[in-house]
Amino acid sequence: MGDEKKIPEGQTPPDASHDSPWETALAQLDEAAELMGLAPGVHEILRVPKRSLIVSVPFRMDDGSTRVYQGTRVHHNVTRGPAKGGIRYHPDMGFDETKALAMWMTWKCAVVDIPFGGAKGGVAVDPREHTRAELERMTRRYASEILPFIGPERDIPAPDMNTDEEIMAWIMDTYSQNQGYSVPGVVTGKPVSIGGSKGRGGATSRGVMYTIFSTLKRLGLGIEEVSVAIQGHGKVGGFLGQLLHDAGCRVVAISDVGGGLYKERGLDPEAINRHKREAGSVVGYPGADPITNEELLQVDCDVLIPAAIESVITVKNADRIRARVVCEAANGPITFEADRILVDRGIFVVPDILANSGGVTVSYFEWVQDIQAYFWTEEEVNDRLRLIMERSFDAVYDLAEAKGLTMRQAAHWIGVGRVAEAHLTRGLFP
Ligand code: GLU
Repeated sequence: MGDEKKIPEGQTPPDASHDSPWETALAQLDEAAELMGLAPGVHEILRVPKRSLIVSVPFRMDDGSTRVYQGTRVHHNVTRGPAKGGIRYHPDMGFDETKALAMWMTWKCAVVDIPFGGAKGGVAVDPREHTRAELERMTRRYASEILPFIGPERDIPAPDMNTDEEIMAWIMDTYSQNQGYSVPGVVTGKPVSIGGSKGRGGATSRGVMYTIFSTLKRLGLGIEEVSVAIQGHGKVGGFLGQLLHDAGCRVVAISDVGGGLYKERGLDPEAINRHKREAGSVVGYPGADPITNEELLQVDCDVLIPAAIESVITVKNADRIRARVVCEAANGPITFEADRILVDRGIFVVPDILANSGGVTVSYFEWVQDIQAYFWTEEEVNDRLRLIMERSFDAVYDLAEAKGLTMRQAAHWIGVGRVAEAHLTRGLFP
């Protein structure tokens, strides 16, 4: 269908040699569409976000002055259910980045077959420059600006980079104050005391771990014989190191924005977490060699886990990656062309929309519990998460094997396919 594919007017065609997340996301969709022979009309619809909001977020600083940042919220697709996706506070959080992250959420929810569409939002802010009180005022104003866009049946935000439980509580409160009653189902990833789900905090890390277990099983490798390197020590990477260490893996490298640590015999993630709590960074932890973030990616290990930001593996370093498996805990850490290089070199790449879907899966559980006002035990949450992760991994792996696809192509085939089917079933309005 290559010739029939039309790029909607006013849109730049994707150039796979570029590294931006939006170009990567579009190139992945176009490739999947071509492989699966997607109907051109549906393909055109899916290339464009359904609706987007750009807002101005003015708020008062502690010294009385005013600061204004740009906020975004994009609904990429809502055909299978309410829009779902995190809110990110990061200086790079512009419109294109939000669009890419929202599109990935659509495929992610479809790959694990939860009844949500995809969304993302954020504020272009460096939260390290602000006090907690300033962040609260900024969050409440941002929430007010996107208020008409969100709601338990409309769009359900969640934490993402640099946002946490407390920030979700402020959003839930701002929304509820405006409604005049408590609406716990408007956000997920909130504290348990106001309707959060047990197990949500560690869900993304746990989901990545289950995915790694499934991968190792298929590749015939034992959990205790593999070495692991993790880039990123935020909510996902920090806990994941501990989980994998406890499961018997040798965690040889860990890093955060400041730099990384390497120890061939294996690091002690719990001791590093303690060091980070005191020192503010993993850097300076004694008993390990310091390495840079770039060096971490090139470490000799079995499983490399980029768990930080987008576009860290590009054409510039893809031929220097030495891992056997790369498992994407972050969203979009490998650019489109770099992915090809890794796959051509025989590296098994587990794509983000499968590997890190544990977070949104437990967000779905949280939303279900909120709207039913009936809460589950942590064991129930973790068991159901494991089932969904294993089932989704197997479906992607089996399709990849059957059709000779990469894991990413197969995951997109399933995700895009489910969304396309929903479009075709509902028909085009009017
Ligand atoms: N921010 C997470 C992600 O990128 C979770 C989103 C959610 O739970 O809605 O998948």
